[in-house]
Amino acid sequence: MDEQSFLAVFAHPDDESFGVGGILRAYSDRGIKTALICATRGEEGEINDPSLATRETLGAVREQELRTACALMGVDDLMFLGYHDGTVAAASRVEAVGKIVHEIRRLRPQVIATFDANGGYGHTDHIAIHAFTLEAFKLAGDPSAYPEQLTAGLKPYTPQKLYYVAIQRSMVLGIRDELLKQGIDFVPGGNMATIPVEQMGTPDEDITTVVTLDDRSVDTKIAAWHAHRTQVDPKGFPETMDPEAARQWSATERFVRAIPPMGRNEPREADLFEGIPA
Ligand SMILES: [Zn+2]
Repeated sequence: MDEQSFLAVFAHPDDESFGVGGILRAYSDRGIKTALICATRGEEGEINDPSLATRETLGAVREQELRTACALMGVDDLMFLGYHDGTVAAASRVEAVGKIVHEIRRLRPQVIATFDANGGYGHTDHIAIHAFTLEAFKLAGDPSAYPEQLTAGLKPYTPQKLYYVAIQRSMVLGIRDELLKQGIDFVPGGNMATIPVEQMGTPDEDITTVVTLDDRSVDTKIAAWHAHRTQVDPKGFPETMDPEAARQWSATERFVRAIPPMGRNEPREADLFEGIPA
């Protein structure tokens, strides 16, 4: 039997800390091998502290920030797809899916997590990675897909479970309303958002899996987010949140199990590895 292994697929350095930062730490602590694919180096992101990077150096700086975050979360394997920030939707689908198929066949994870179909707030890079990962999940076990990878020694492999990171919609709206009361017009995703805030995140009733993190995993998740120093805006979200509320918000990671789909009366899961032998 293969050892337990978890793969997360995201678009930008820092997506992982918000989405799965806690379970990456928790799984590593449990002896599960963890891997991260990041599609870009976030070259077009914020530079909240100009002493840290210029537009020219931001990609290299953010790569280093992600490596620091991965070290905190105990991520064993980090791989970049090498696309430029903001252009993932324009990438060759065959090429991008092939790269993810290659990593699935190499790493042989039982469980994969990626973005929801709306990319949380409609970021086009997130939506593209969602689609590429879903297709790669389905093709990795098919020997007729990307056969050149097999002649290079990899074997077809079908993971068992696919999850989408779920930002609870009621929570998105709650945070928005709370900040509005303070006079802050908060739009999750800022100018990368392409959908109205009412359509962001995942409807609460669609969430299938709710993971409660232990203290060490919460601390690590918060530290991993802060490792993305260029992205931390001391005057913005979530830094201005009440620390206790922010901690509470960080202490739960929610998901939609896409494959296999949840049965009608199946109870909510508390862990992504439920049903997978250690
Ligand atoms: Zn992102």
